Amino acid sequence: MAEKQYDIVIAGAGFAGTLTALVLKNIGFHVCLIEKGTHPRFAIGESSTPIADMILRSLSVKYNLPWLHDFSRYGSWQRAHPEIVCGIKRGFSYYKHYPGEAFASDTLHSNELLVAASVSDTLSDTNWLRADFDAFLVGKAVESDIDYFDEAEIMSAVRENKEWLFTVRRREDLIAFRADFLIDATGSGLLADKLFAVKSSADRFLTHSFGVFSHFHNLPRWTERLHQKNISTEDYPYDADNSALHHVLDEGWIWALRFNNNLTSFGFALNGEELSLRNMPTEEIWSTMRRRYPDIDGLLGDATLSASPGIILRSGRLQRRLERTFGEGWVAMPHTVGFVDPLFSTGIAYSLAGIERVVEMLAENRDFGQPLYDRLQEYERIVSAELKLIDLLVAGCYKTMRHFPLFTAWSMLYFTFTIVYEQKRLKNIPCDYFLEASNSDILEIAYTTYEELLALMRGPVISDTDIVKFTDTVRERIKPFNTAGLLNPAARNMYHHTVAKLDETSAPF
Ligand SMILES: Cc1cc2nc3c(=O)[nH]c(=O)nc-3n(C[C@H](O)[C@H](O)[C@H](O)COP(=O)(O)OP(=O)(O)OC[C@H]3O[C@@H](n4cnc5c(N)ncnc54)[C@H](O)[C@@H]3O)c2cc1C
Repeated sequence: MAEKQYDIVIAGAGFAGTLTALVLKNIGFHVCLIEKGTHPRFAIGESSTPIADMILRSLSVKYNLPWLHDFSRYGSWQRAHPEIVCGIKRGFSYYKHYPGEAFASDTLHSNELLVAASVSDTLSDTNWLRADFDAFLVGKAVESDIDYFDEAEIMSAVRENKEWLFTVRRREDLIAFRADFLIDATGSGLLADKLFAVKSSADRFLTHSFGVFSHFHNLPRWTERLHQKNISTEDYPYDADNSALHHVLDEGWIWALRFNNNLTSFGFALNGEELSLRNMPTEEIWSTMRRRYPDIDGLLGDATLSASPGIILRSGRLQRRLERTFGEGWVAMPHTVGFVDPLFSTGIAYSLAGIERVVEMLAENRDFGQPLYDRLQEYERIVSAELKLIDLLVAGCYKTMRHFPLFTAWSMLYFTFTIVYEQKRLKNIPCDYFLEASNSDILEIAYTTYEELLALMRGPVISDTDIVKFTDTVRERIKPFNTAGLLNPAARNMYHHTVAKLDETSAPF
């Protein structure tokens, strides 16, 4: 058996594992990447956010990866790499549909909510075609002389004298790897269970959802459909098809993330407590949901499944959380530790924030001694608090999906907390917790409002007065942080400016 020696082995060559490898290599670690599959490959999870882009720029500057900077905005991405497919994402758009009814609008945009995140198409966030982007990153890793093993899997791990001996199966071969440390970036709890008997569970999550999704060609533009129905989009802050477009249903929601090659990532995230749906076969869920929502059915009419993945995929319950975030000689990246739900697209930003943190801990503790484990304890507390806050924010949304004005009011908590976090990062104030999950003011707002929401939902009926009262309460609570005029009735659910203005010369973040 051939033997290889590294400082750090990284399992999983998604963007999180590969970027971590590139950064660690640049600060002097001898690393390798082990990937179970092979690139390019289909991957879900495509919509970035302003926070994700800030972190990309920050990693690029801090760790001398100049080419990474281009990927933080649509314009620079497409100028530098037109061959790597992505889409324009100007913000978050929501459309409420009612079962059996055609989508309807009014002058107050009562069934619409558009929250701008970028000021122009050129400076906008992006929807990443992960197959392209992740493969490009792996190419960069190989170019940087990082040893990359695809179709490879760690079969066993033995720890002796503060060193790992991993047995890795690669195709027909067995290879022995020695390393001081392992980073688990596999995006699921399976490896930690196999190697360390660390279990993953959905216990303690408030959210209960599952996904049914694929990639489609020729999905008509939603705004064209609105125009066909004589619904005006004149006062929209941006073209809603160039955004993370959500259709809010009674049973969950749909994401439609458009790329610039006529491909769209389209999927349902459905409330797992709706047993009648959960127990159906995948195709039946798809056809049932289409039948219930006429405009969704109409939209999907001419769309065709893309060859990759070529089928409609279905997840189990999306919520999962590893019982440990680290152990002797290993740490898991945030998306490997846990996941809540794609709502609000926290995944990419959260994974990137994890890279910053894990790299910093390792850079400051190169001998992998006890101080590293003190930091890892803190990391575990941080990740746990963050997942809890994301869970609360998402769970409140599922509770309110039948009552769009409540959904609109509740979701403003997420946008407010994001703005606070963004502003801090822009001012170079250290941000230890993603979305300010340790900020006592923010936690107080989130938990108190959630309790009130639950009390409201328990009532026999939800009246217009209840909705106005709840909205007023949220507006009042977010006031100290609300620099974007969120919940200002004059905005009529159209928010044109929510982030600090950045231009292409603003550096580095
Ligand atoms: C339905 C759904 C929709 C989502 N939508 C969004 C969104 O719109 N926006 C957003 O920000 N996030 C979204 N996410 C989250 C997003 O997918 C993740 O944040 C992102 O994929 C994390 O990247 P990663 O590199 O950590 O993990 P992954 O992308 O999961 O990569 C892990 C890699 O590890 C490999 N691997 C697995 N097991 C092993 C093993 N044992 N050994 C070696 N390699 C292994 C896999 O093949 C894969 O290449 C979504 C997630 C889901 C489930």
